[in-house]
Amino acid sequence: MTEQFQSDLKKATLFHGHACTGIILGVRMARAGLSYLGINDPEENRDFIVYLEIDRCLADAIQSVTGLSFGKRRLKAMGYGKMAASFIDMNTGKGVRIVMNAKQEAPEKTDQVQFWDQFPDEQLFQMEPVMVDLKPEDLPGPPVRTAVCELCHEKIMDGKDIVKDGQILCKACAEGAYYRKI
Ligand SMILES: [Zn+2]
Ligand SMILES: [Zn+2]
Repeated sequence: MTEQFQSDLKKATLFHGHACTGIILGVRMARAGLSYLGINDPEENRDFIVYLEIDRCLADAIQSVTGLSFGKRRLKAMGYGKMAASFIDMNTGKGVRIVMNAKQEAPEKTDQVQFWDQFPDEQLFQMEPVMVDLKPEDLPGPPVRTAVCELCHEKIMDGKDIVKDGQILCKACAEGAYYRKI
């Protein structure tokens, strides 16, 4: 266990609220992604984007270790429900998608950190080089495009508007919203 892992784990545990398998493996996944991109100190290199496919413990660990946030647009929630994330270089669009491969479960009453420490990254993760077509609308910086929905008249930022039957619509009007008005 390296010093870096221990300090990453401490930070992620504070951020998340408890240490769990998702946090331990999320810390490992974050570092694997960073090192693929050649980044040692994410504070010093902000030119990367992480696409999170899960919104569970693992996501908090990745957010904590990378220091990325949704508000700064360097973290993207894909909502796939998969224990996976892609770490992408913002300048080239190239990077790595890392999928959790771990089949084993830490036996009860064992030290989780010790248990997972015996497995190398290659056993825990499947890593595949990937390319993301980064759109200007998806990148950090001032909004490049805004629109107004022709149905609800709400403002839509960052190219999230959808053209349907010749109308410019927001996602909620075009595809149905996640909420119902009561
Ligand atoms: Zn957890
Ligand atoms: Zn609308």
